Amino acid sequence: MKAIAVFPETHEVKLIDHEEPEITTPAQVKLRMLEVGVCGTDRKITSFQFGTPPAGSEYLVIGHESLGEVVEVGPEVRDIKPGDLVVTTVRRPCPHEYCRACRMGHQDFCFTGDFTECGIKEAHGFMTEFVVDEGRHMNVVPRELRDVGVLTEPLTVAEKAMAQVWQIQQRLPWIDPNTSAQMRGKGLKAMVLGAGPVGQLGTMVLVAAGFETYIYSRSKVPNPKADLVEAIGATYFSEETTPVEQLAEQVGNIDLVFEAAGASQIAFDVMRVLGTNAIFVFAGVPDHKAPIEVDTALLIRDHVLKNQAVLGSVNADSANFEAAIRDLSVFKQRWPQALRSLITGYYPIEQAPQLLLGSAGGIKNVVTFTSEPLEE
Ligand SMILES: [Zn+2]
Ligand SMILES: [Zn+2]
Repeated sequence: MKAIAVFPETHEVKLIDHEEPEITTPAQVKLRMLEVGVCGTDRKITSFQFGTPPAGSEYLVIGHESLGEVVEVGPEVRDIKPGDLVVTTVRRPCPHEYCRACRMGHQDFCFTGDFTECGIKEAHGFMTEFVVDEGRHMNVVPRELRDVGVLTEPLTVAEKAMAQVWQIQQRLPWIDPNTSAQMRGKGLKAMVLGAGPVGQLGTMVLVAAGFETYIYSRSKVPNPKADLVEAIGATYFSEETTPVEQLAEQVGNIDLVFEAAGASQIAFDVMRVLGTNAIFVFAGVPDHKAPIEVDTALLIRDHVLKNQAVLGSVNADSANFEAAIRDLSVFKQRWPQALRSLITGYYPIEQAPQLLLGSAGGIKNVVTFTSEPLEE
């Protein structure tokens, strides 16, 4: 069957013939891939900054943002049946008995670093026609989300970040006790850094939770990403035209920053104007660049005197996947057009190497395995 493989030794990215997997244990499920999204992580792998093939393989099948359709299930699989749509999780536990996180099903908090990740680290990914995996790594997606289900995995980044934000901010009277659980962000101001897919999906999470939400990104207005953000009720500021101090003046107390740009300079600039009792979440991974100058005394002073929390967040657990699937349904009801327009390009698998190696524009580009028209 067809697959897109990365060969780290020879620095090649190409369409290959990969052996079709079969169900070999009773808890496994076989999927026909429908769509696989491409992101910055894939680009780092195809530029050979990281990405490790499974032991004994000279290549890694890439792809971690997937949507598949079940074609066959093992006899012990209960909650998944042929015809179901599923999104498969990415990270798998490390083998060490002493890793409390992995042993408790929280491999997103793995202590040892010896976890594997499908399409990234020592396990094949999903940019291929068929995938076999354990049913417990799969999350069922309702049929109505066929057209946007591939956004589940990138949405889990914001879902995990927010799950932690709510936990951490419980230590202080951050949430108005008179608001409903769904609108916990009411009365609070959130700032998203970066207008890529993770930033856009994070903006939707925040707006849906009731936050007054702002997005701070590079491009000047007007631009399509700014239009999208405004369409869901957030406000866009360009770094080009609004310096950080002016941003803070216009917004007021910034209660939450969700950093999804992987740009360290702008992150530390915004940290300078972070509000009282605020939380700053780093979710983007910057490319390595020359060191920058930061006023550390000022930052520490503010962290202390303003009770600020700074947090890093990576990967997601199964609860975060479930939250992402629930939220996609909410977004689809509220902003059907904006949600759909996050996916800006569909490419057949034969064109995947060009997509991975080129500089395709748009927001989320997706490799598609079917030519059937999307419902609706
Ligand atoms: Zn990704
Ligand atoms: Zn572990």
